[in-house]
Amino acid sequence: MAITEAQQNWKDVARDFAKQKLEPATGWLEGEEFWSNAKKLADHGFLGLTLPEEYGGMNLDLFEAALIIEELCRVCPTSGRHAYHASMGISSFINHLGNEEQKQKYLPQVTSGKLFVALGMSEPEAGSAATDMTTTAVDEGDHYRLNGSKVFISDAHLADLFVVYARFGNSGRTSDIGAILVERGTPGFTIGPNEENMSGEIQCALYFEDAIVPKENVLVTDNAFKKLMGVYNGVRLGFLAQTLGITQAAFDRTMDHVKQRKQFGKDIAEFQGVQWMISDMYVELEAARTLLYRAAEAAADNKPDKNAVSVAKIFVADASQRITDTCIQLHGGYGYSKQYPLEWYYRCVRAASIAGGTLQVHKTMLASDVLERRFDQRK
Ligand SMILES: Cc1cc2nc3c(=O)[nH]c(=O)nc-3n(C[C@H](O)[C@H](O)[C@H](O)COP(=O)(O)OP(=O)(O)OC[C@H]3O[C@@H](n4cnc5c(N)ncnc54)[C@H](O)[C@@H]3O)c2cc1C
Repeated sequence: MAITEAQQNWKDVARDFAKQKLEPATGWLEGEEFWSNAKKLADHGFLGLTLPEEYGGMNLDLFEAALIIEELCRVCPTSGRHAYHASMGISSFINHLGNEEQKQKYLPQVTSGKLFVALGMSEPEAGSAATDMTTTAVDEGDHYRLNGSKVFISDAHLADLFVVYARFGNSGRTSDIGAILVERGTPGFTIGPNEENMSGEIQCALYFEDAIVPKENVLVTDNAFKKLMGVYNGVRLGFLAQTLGITQAAFDRTMDHVKQRKQFGKDIAEFQGVQWMISDMYVELEAARTLLYRAAEAAADNKPDKNAVSVAKIFVADASQRITDTCIQLHGGYGYSKQYPLEWYYRCVRAASIAGGTLQVHKTMLASDVLERRFDQRK
């Protein structure tokens, strides 16, 4: 899919920044390295890609932001992930659903890299069936009392602020679901121990035991689930851009490898079997990029197309696994070794089939639209 000169310009800006300011990563960054990159990202405006200028953002659209995330993740996935969480991802709940006071209080801190926001949606008994969530927020006058728990919360160990989905009513319907901002240190709110996932990222559980959250922290209460999931599409697109960037990094390294690795007296790129593997990967990468850009462009034009996001999600998630797997194969024993990042790339992209809604859930939503039928998952 052709991109405009202005869009290509953002891609180039991000590529140059990543090349000059970020070290090519072979794992997720923590501690000093994480904060050092966070400062560089903030100094260059990358922590406010889609946020309005008045809060320190760059006011870019979702497509431009996705192009930048892809380029950042090609060199340093931690930095790309931070950039999308801070803008088109989790902070966008505040940007799109928050009131002016909330925006002024939190967004400038996000864009300057001082505040990290995480998202608390999934629960132990409500993953794919997100609307089965049981965390409650009970109105007690000037505050809400929260009870319940969340699981798999990415980067909770770093976060200062959490966008938490909860039930504000007791009808048992989806219309009860809304969201509230919970600050670290809130009485009754605890963050569980660090849990390392397959790629080495940290996720934590969140516990709310009579947590008292001021009323002014409410984002949305009534009939909000559709709006919340509309904003969540930005998280999905950011995650797919991250996956594509990591897959491109694996492909780039593999091209270098096949051109210099010699067997039987010649570069392995000279073997037709290898050439066909490269062409297959290239075709899938191009197709994945086209589908992702199409979904991001629709979202950027304020014509979000949930089918386009599901189509991109299904293809990018599957293709990235196949491509990174082939990259391991073409590196032979070096690909399987932890001394090289190929196996890490593979472990990273594996998440795309699960996070942001599993492939099966997206396929069901897509089929429902294609067949023009609603499928009740409970029957
Ligand atoms: C890397 C990563 C980061 C994440 N970050 C966050 C985060 O920051 N915040 C957050 O809130 N959550 C986060 N999650 C959680 C994520 O949203 C859930 O894992 C996801 O929604 C799936 O829920 P589950 O794990 O409970 O799986 P389940 O819902 O239990 O699914 C298990 C299996 O059953 C299948 N299945 C379930 N229902 C159906 C159906 N109706 N039809 C067909 N198949 C079905 C699924 O496709 C899957 O294969 C993250 C997950 C990952 C992997």
